[in-house]
Amino acid sequence: MNKALILEELTWVEFDAVKDQVELVIIPLGSTEQHGPNTTLATDTVRARAMGKLIGEEYGNRVLIGPTLPIGLAYHHMKFPGTMTFSLQTYIQVIRDICWSFNEHGFKKILFITGHGGNKRPVHEYATEARKEFGMDIYISSMGGSLVRELSAQEDFTKVKGHACEVETSQTMFLAPDHVRPDALEAAKFIEGTKYLDREHMYDCGMFWDFSKVSENGALGDATRASVEFGEKMNALVVEKIKKFIDNIIL
Ligand SMILES: [Zn+2]
Repeated sequence: MNKALILEELTWVEFDAVKDQVELVIIPLGSTEQHGPNTTLATDTVRARAMGKLIGEEYGNRVLIGPTLPIGLAYHHMKFPGTMTFSLQTYIQVIRDICWSFNEHGFKKILFITGHGGNKRPVHEYATEARKEFGMDIYISSMGGSLVRELSAQEDFTKVKGHACEVETSQTMFLAPDHVRPDALEAAKFIEGTKYLDREHMYDCGMFWDFSKVSENGALGDATRASVEFGEKMNALVVEKIKKFIDNIIL
């Protein structure tokens, strides 16, 4: 294991001395949003930050870990107290300005690792603009349940998961235990008649879900089935998959 190269922990003089070794910048993307009674509003942010550090430890000075963005696109959770969101336009502009800053310092590859699914598509779309404007290569990776579906399927887990559920809560137990409320864990309290439960019939169609109309407590799945053991196991697989992405596609 190497020491992760974390921008915020360096002076500019220290950074200047090693920056020519950097081949890729990673920016963890978080969100300040409700996760039911199960985990804190910072869940996606602290998971993304921890993941950035773990990936950084795999690469040492070859990969620079930039600051974690603590707010994302979370309109679908706004009905729950405490959730914050950028507008789509602002968010893309923030992503653009982060890219602009690193471009100014001579970096041409940025991998955004997002702890929140809602951040993924705007960054993905922005990637084409970054190529046009700065000649930069922008990459985006998830870091949660979507990367470990086969592993989750082997467990006694629920079917409708993906937010504040047993998978995400397990990962939070492993990566950021202070953000879990073990005595308050609850399964989803689905709103009667919500079409969210029929998602599999949407195929590749899209729509906006207001989570207050999906789940009374804001959670999906069943966080009472979460465990730190599963969190550790799934997280190892996530790290392995992100490493493969970096090694095969980026570096
Ligand atoms: Zn989350």
